[in-house]
Amino acid sequence: METGEMKKKKMWPAIVHARCPRCREGKIFANAPYSFGGQKILKECPCCGLVYEREPGYFYAAMYVGYAFIVAELVTLAVGTYILTGSENPWLYVLILLSVVAALAPLNYRYSRVLLLHWFTPGLRYNPRLGCGMDGK
Ligand SMILES: [Zn+2]
Repeated sequence: METGEMKKKKMWPAIVHARCPRCREGKIFANAPYSFGGQKILKECPCCGLVYEREPGYFYAAMYVGYAFIVAELVTLAVGTYILTGSENPWLYVLILLSVVAALAPLNYRYSRVLLLHWFTPGLRYNPRLGCGMDGK
């Protein structure tokens, strides 16, 4: 920082790009959501050193966040399907709901963990003084 003034990073871009909740720069995942090798969570932030798994079994709590995602998706899809088609054929709903939820599963996995880290972890706050100054590269 040439001016000596710290530039605060916004929360939403950090969440969308799955960045560290403390410095908002370091990546949380080692690879992309739809990569063939599956998604791997890094052990710690490459910029500020925050250990992502706060305690043993920490990411089990992400199941509850993912559950909320899936319920929201299913309700939205079911209502949307009914409004668009007006159909009462249950197999149409089964086909649409299962295929869309399966397609969104990698994003549910990723963002349930990101939101758990950003919103639902007590004592974990953004610190603008931390980071590697390279926007997570
Ligand atoms: Zn960090």
